[in-house]
Amino acid sequence: MTAPAILVTNDDGIHSEGLRALAEALAHVGEVTVVAPDRERSAAGHALTLHRPLRASEVAPGWHRVDGTPTDCVTLAVMGMLKRRPHLVVAGINLGANLGDDVTYSGTVSAAMEGILLGIPAFAISQGGGAPFEFTVAADFARRLAGLLLEQGLPPDTLLNVNVPAGPPESIRGVALTRQGRRAYRESIVEKLDPRGKTYYWIGGSEPEWECLGDSDYDAVTAGKISVTPLRLDLTHYEVLTTLRGWEERLRDP
Ligand code: MN
Repeated sequence: MTAPAILVTNDDGIHSEGLRALAEALAHVGEVTVVAPDRERSAAGHALTLHRPLRASEVAPGWHRVDGTPTDCVTLAVMGMLKRRPHLVVAGINLGANLGDDVTYSGTVSAAMEGILLGIPAFAISQGGGAPFEFTVAADFARRLAGLLLEQGLPPDTLLNVNVPAGPPESIRGVALTRQGRRAYRESIVEKLDPRGKTYYWIGGSEPEWECLGDSDYDAVTAGKISVTPLRLDLTHYEVLTTLRGWEERLRDP
């Protein structure tokens, strides 16, 4: 039996230690091909490059770098570069958590979304805390989760967003299936003057704060648990859709 094909990417760039740790861990589960951005593309969201050509080069056997976004990498890999279609797409290990509303900015989560759009099971995995990062827990979890997904699959339109709390293996308090958390938005724009007297702005000056929902990704990671959140691409708000049906009449042309 041939080993399952696993596509690995990230948004921190091909030189990230997190990417290397992930590729090494998943090599125990399948045949890994890395296709990753040539530089950091964190917070690139689900951006796709349409207005210039993309270049790719193989920097080591099975390691390809692309001068595009994480979504470009998954698209190019699946639609053109890879000899066989991957059975699984895994993005990470991101340097820093991807919790709550941050998933919409995250290039890591978006890469997994692209896998789902192409019909391939996918998950994103992020390591909480700050530098120096330690990937033992996340890498081991990625290996086990990949094995499970290759065996069980995922329902269509579903990706998993995994966040691993900082700390050594013995500090981890287990695994929690969670829902997407919510950021409590505070002032986070820094406004300053540049050396020529012109105003500039810097987004995200202060540490993010979170609402305590009790069962969110944020709550789990804060409690020392590995958080696994199933996300869907269908953003339709079904309850509100039903409520707003009554507007159809009023919005129609007179
Ligand atoms: Mn990143």
